[in-house]
Order: sequence, then C-alpha cells, then structure tokens
Amino acid sequence: MDLDLVFLGTSGSVPTARRAPSSLLLRRGGERLLVDCGEGTQRQLLRSGIGLVELPEVFLTHYHADHYLGLPGMMKTFALRGRELPLRIYGPPGLADLFDSLKRIFGKLTYRYELVELRHGDVLDRGDYRIVVVRTQHGIAAHGYAFVEAARPGRFDVGAAAALGVAPGPLFGALQRGETVVLDDGSSVRSEQVLGPARRGRKVIVTGDTRPTAGVLEAAQAADVLVHDATFTDDERDRADETGHSTARAAAELAQAAGVRMLVLTHLSNRYFGPEVVREARAVFPHTSVPRDFDIIDVPFPERGAPRLLKGGALARQEEAGAGGHGAADGGAGRGGRGGDPDDPALGGDRIGARAGRGAAPDGTG
Ligand SMILES: [Zn+2]
Ligand SMILES: [Zn+2]
Repeated sequence: MDLDLVFLGTSGSVPTARRAPSSLLLRRGGERLLVDCGEGTQRQLLRSGIGLVELPEVFLTHYHADHYLGLPGMMKTFALRGRELPLRIYGPPGLADLFDSLKRIFGKLTYRYELVELRHGDVLDRGDYRIVVVRTQHGIAAHGYAFVEAARPGRFDVGAAAALGVAPGPLFGALQRGETVVLDDGSSVRSEQVLGPARRGRKVIVTGDTRPTAGVLEAAQAADVLVHDATFTDDERDRADETGHSTARAAAELAQAAGVRMLVLTHLSNRYFGPEVVREARAVFPHTSVPRDFDIIDVPFPERGAPRLLKGGALARQEEAGAGGHGAADGGAGRGGRGGDPDDPALGGDRIGARAGRGAAPDGTG
C-alpha cells in the first residue's frame, strides 16, 4: 500500500514567494489526511497534480494563524461546489472556540462539519493503522500526530505449504489469515508453519510547531519519517526556545536519539532558503531532507527501501514545464485558454467541480 507525504506549504509564520504556510497531505492507499491548512492551501492543491479534492478530514496541530487561515476559504469553496460529503476537523482543545469565529467567514455550507477536540495520548483507531496524539510544546495548546500502521502478517512460504501437502486455492488464503487448515488426509497445518515472522508497519510523525520535547522523542522511536519543526538554525537557538520552536540542529539530535530512518524539516523562517538548514542538520543526522513546496516524501514498506524525497513530485505537468523554462505556465493564458480562470469553481472548470456538476454558488455570491 502506497504511503506518502505531499508538502503543500513549508514556510514558518508567513508565506514567501516560494513557500506557502504550513500544510501537508498524507496519502495512504485511497485515504487523504490533511495536516494543517495554512493560508492558500486550496490554491496549492489546485496548482499540484492532486487538485482540490474533497478532503474528508483535516488535522490541526494548533491555532496559530499560519496553520488554519486556509481552512475557511477552502470550506467556502467546497460549499460553492455543492459539496455534500461531511468534513471532520480535529485539533487541540479550543477548536470549538476557533470555529465560533471562523463560521462568520464561511457562512452557510452545503455539508456538515464536525469538530473533534483531541488531547495528548488520544488514539484514533483506523483498523490497520492508528493515529496517536503526541505531546508537543509550543506555548499554547498544541500537539503532533503519529500515524502508526499495525504489523503485517509474515511472508507466505508457498514452497513450505506445498511440501506440507496444501493445494493452492482457498486453503492458502486461510493460512495467510492466520487460520489452521485441515487437509483431506485428516492432518492439519498451522499458519505459523508457512508464514514468516510478522513484518512491522510504517510510522510517520508530524510534530507541527514545537520545541524539541521528550514526548516527540518517545513517539518518534524507530519512526520511518519524522517531520519536525526547524524554524531556526543554531545561531538563533535562544530565539527558538523563546518562541516555542526548534533549530535544525536540535531536531537532528532528536532524530538521531530516536533512531528514525528519515528526518524531514519544515516550517522554515523566511530568512532561510533551505541549504543552510539542511547542512546544519546533516552534520548531526545525515538522512535529513528539507522539502520545498510540492515535494513528496515517499514512504515504502521497510523491506522495500528507505523513504525518499521526490523533488517537485506533486507539481502538475504544466507547472513543471513552467518551473524549468520560461515561467509562462503560471500565467493566465498558458493554462486553460482564454475566457477566464479554469480554476474558478463558478465556471466548473476544475477537476472536482467538473465532476460534481456546475459549481454555481447556492447563495449567489460565487
Ligand atoms: Zn507556525
Ligand atoms: Zn505556531
């Protein structure tokens, strides 16, 4: 099953010309979980090859504006398209208060939304994985999220099954599910005889804004990917501590201590471009990446290789061409021909809007 992280916004506190404020999309199989929704997240999705899909769930790490300002706009756009799918929003205590204010912005919606306030240690059971709420430290109510897959059954040894007299077919399936099967001659075969040891699932931690903390260190033990705050570099460590953030070096030391496979640094202050951050972290922990917007971190099962950075992996093809060349792809004319912006929901020209029918605004304000 595929698992990856799409970086939609990697800037700290304020947007820059190249980086949008925090937002990350976790994709696992057909599931789409958005973590934080900084200003302009809906447009980042539209610019990506993903499009503004009807996300069912949003996880907020805390209520600083650079992590939620994109939400009311995105919720409004969904309504203009006539979305019916309910939206569930998770966050630390204070979520209901926040929405008392936000609902004046987005007004009447065409779908229901549900607010779920989570506390440190809460666990959302999703069957073959779980989401654990991680204690962080940022001066206000804040937490990170750990996405932890259950162990998978061991590898099925076809040769061993055949040697024990099991014929290919339904009995193979039963053994793979952990059952004991009885053969025609009355003998029985237990799954342990044909299955290898259980294989561990993957673990991904997204901290949101935080100082380096014991809670993150514990949650990140042997994680495949740790996505950590790195707002500053080491020369600003006092400032990092004062403002409840981390330096690249401190995040790298934590990653080293936790034994993660890959450290991914984000939420960069607008004074950095990336290379200085990655240099500082790699001096401590070599397997570090600092993605730009639209980069993807692919997280394969451990036996299939290490997590890796796919540069620009989420860019739509037109933007990719534009990024390397004449820069025309981001302009109005190059994209959808004349006669208006193809991404305007009122024109039904975007991917989802086109499918959902004309996105005429129900309240006439579109
Ligand atoms: Zn922030
Ligand atoms: Zn913050």
